[in-house]
Amino acid sequence: MFPIRLAVFKEQFCRYYTSPSKYINITLGQNQIFVLMTNWILDILFPKKCVGCKKEGTYFCNSCVGNILQTDLVCPRCERLAMGGQTHPVCKRRYGLDGLWSLGIYQDPLRAAIQILKYQGAKGLGEILVDITLEYWVKYQPFVLDQIKKDRGAGWVVIPVPLYWWRNNSRGFNQASLIGQILSKKLGLAFCEGLKRVRYTPSQVKLKGRERKKNVFGVFEITTNYQLPASQGKPTMNSILLIDDVWTTGSTLKECCYVLKRSGAKKVWALTLAR
Ligand SMILES: [Zn+2]
Ligand SMILES: [Zn+2]
Repeated sequence: MFPIRLAVFKEQFCRYYTSPSKYINITLGQNQIFVLMTNWILDILFPKKCVGCKKEGTYFCNSCVGNILQTDLVCPRCERLAMGGQTHPVCKRRYGLDGLWSLGIYQDPLRAAIQILKYQGAKGLGEILVDITLEYWVKYQPFVLDQIKKDRGAGWVVIPVPLYWWRNNSRGFNQASLIGQILSKKLGLAFCEGLKRVRYTPSQVKLKGRERKKNVFGVFEITTNYQLPASQGKPTMNSILLIDDVWTTGSTLKECCYVLKRSGAKKVWALTLAR
């Protein structure tokens, strides 16, 4: 854990020293040289380590990426096999999810990567996880991805599952939001913090299915951001990619979907790193 923490420090350090600030009066050219030098020195001082095998040089080495166990894609309602993760026609509900796509099973090394991302917030690791997700997605039943391409991204918005503001601040960032932002940039889609938590809920970790559902009931609300125009000046947030790190019972994502659809969303797909 220690070297990863240092890597996070390095990222924060770089961000601090490379942001154009009135306190650091250097031109862009010098700034770039400064970044390179800082990176070089910090790479020596705090080498990146693989989340799986601890090998130095990267957050996630190729052989550990190869060890990610793929999940079978399932219908988000009945959790039985479903083509491309689409909700079965008989399982469709008016305010329910239209599909679910997850990268892999919640097991090491993916679990370790998600834990580090969640509690230590290494942005570089987030980038790598999104790259892996996209690579697998293209290869493995990219039904919703094809649909996004067909729509040329129009009307599609990436929305993360929010954390309660207090938890957000104490941890410093929201991992779902980080993944969502990186993903939206890579796909060229709009990103919007369209949901907020209106009350604090105890962690879902120790709760069982039914309790989890009760725990998140009425917890989410649409934010004013949600009404911002997504394309051509029209608030066309018809199709949403809802992002979270892990799908466990799905109660959080389902509740978010309910709120979004009640506010006019036509399609909501859940996308998670693990299931
Ligand atoms: Zn490794
Ligand atoms: Zn089903």
